[in-house]
Amino acid sequence: MNAYVAEVLEQVRRKNSDQVEFLQAAAEVLESVSPVLDRHRRYRDHAILERIVEPDRVLMFRVPWQDDRNRFQVNRGFRVQFNNAIGPYKGGLRFHPSVNLSIIKFLGFEQIFKNSLTTLPMGGAKGGSDFDPKGKSDSEVMRFCQSFMTELYRHIGPDVDVPAGDIGVGSREVAYLFGQYRRIQNEFTGTLTGKGINWGGSLIRPEATGYGAVYFAQEMLATRKDSIEGKICLVSGSGNVAQYTVEKINQLGGKAVTLSDSDGTIYDRDGINAEKLAYVIELKNIRRGRIKEYAERFKAEYRPGKRPWDIPCDCAFPSATQNEISGDDARTLVKNGCILVAEGANMPTDPEGVEVFLAHKILYGPGKAANAGGVATSGLEMAQNSMRLSWSREDVDQRLYGIMKAIHASAYAASVEYGQPGNYVMGANIAGFVKVADAMVEQGLV
Ligand code: NDP
Repeated sequence: MNAYVAEVLEQVRRKNSDQVEFLQAAAEVLESVSPVLDRHRRYRDHAILERIVEPDRVLMFRVPWQDDRNRFQVNRGFRVQFNNAIGPYKGGLRFHPSVNLSIIKFLGFEQIFKNSLTTLPMGGAKGGSDFDPKGKSDSEVMRFCQSFMTELYRHIGPDVDVPAGDIGVGSREVAYLFGQYRRIQNEFTGTLTGKGINWGGSLIRPEATGYGAVYFAQEMLATRKDSIEGKICLVSGSGNVAQYTVEKINQLGGKAVTLSDSDGTIYDRDGINAEKLAYVIELKNIRRGRIKEYAERFKAEYRPGKRPWDIPCDCAFPSATQNEISGDDARTLVKNGCILVAEGANMPTDPEGVEVFLAHKILYGPGKAANAGGVATSGLEMAQNSMRLSWSREDVDQRLYGIMKAIHASAYAASVEYGQPGNYVMGANIAGFVKVADAMVEQGLV
């Protein structure tokens, strides 16, 4: 590893010793860009690494709200505005009890390079809260969102920072957040993305991350003259990303056989077809039920407390959460014949698992590249809002497809340029990094 990279990594570890997820993400990116630092002295002269690992600012705030029994509740809110060298801050909000500063920093850091890869002008940020929407009434979720926005509104804006959804923040939450923003600021702008279709949202935004992950998989397969057609696919999660990953796999002739949530996995050997997927969407998005109910409804196997990774497959699409594939899971997947992993979730494979995939030279698309279709389509929503126009479904889908092809091409080209063709971890990190680093060099010491 380049000596400068090693020195900065050591500093990062010293200064953030309790931030496990952030350290994991920072180590991966810094190690992958090491060969770039060997070739280009200017990044060291401009202290790019020291600057890029330090967020522009970290906002942490109290979110007080009242539950349905009139009891006072308090959660913690976060927004980490990491880097806006190439455009306004952009990145989702996550509401989940596990949320802490380390998780938001890891997600914000990843977002810098992901957004750079999309070819659109967006900086990196992330936010959220340890609030758990599960089991809460719509009124409680609304009151929480209103309180959260009552602090956040002063830090965001259409040319400043444009939040979106993530785990636990779907169309319902974005709507409550936007309503409160509009009311306090007295403006109607595209300050959040993932909005409802009648008030500024973009067609294809709900589908974009899942569709994009499958488009990315298709591009990787094409390098080996292969396709999704006929492939048995494991999908984890059963939320936004998982649902539309299954839809696109079906459309391209593959067969998705699993979905999961934090309680367990369903395994449907016959495949989760369009009719069954419609049931899942209603179950998860409207009734807010558990995936176990699918097994009862369609006589599929239910595996309580388990993840899908020990089921034989051709392709895997982890679409739930970080570190859901361990080294052992990765070895099991490879042993059982898995030839492709495309990450719909952010950092779902732990560092040992990544090593396994790279060592076996399977087609491995890291989240930063494979799930960038979501934020890319958010960028398209921002463009439509600025122009006061709405594009058709076909138009947005075509642009999304073009962006995923471009992301694949630039990650692949960087992997070739730096001597490891097909190493998309290295390729995506380098391609994302160089654009931001060059912008930082050009803009001086800020
Ligand atoms: P949703 O909230 O819609 O769904 C999340 C799914 O993952 C649920 O099925 C949930 O199960 C499961 N899950 C969440 N946390 C855990 C956990 N700790 N252990 C096991 N299962 C878990 O979120 P999204 O689909 O939007 O996001 C999924 C992943 O994709 C995340 O990593 C997110 O960062 C990433 N992503 C999302 C984008 C988007 O556009 N939405 C864009 C790019 C990346 P349960 O209901 O039991 O909690």
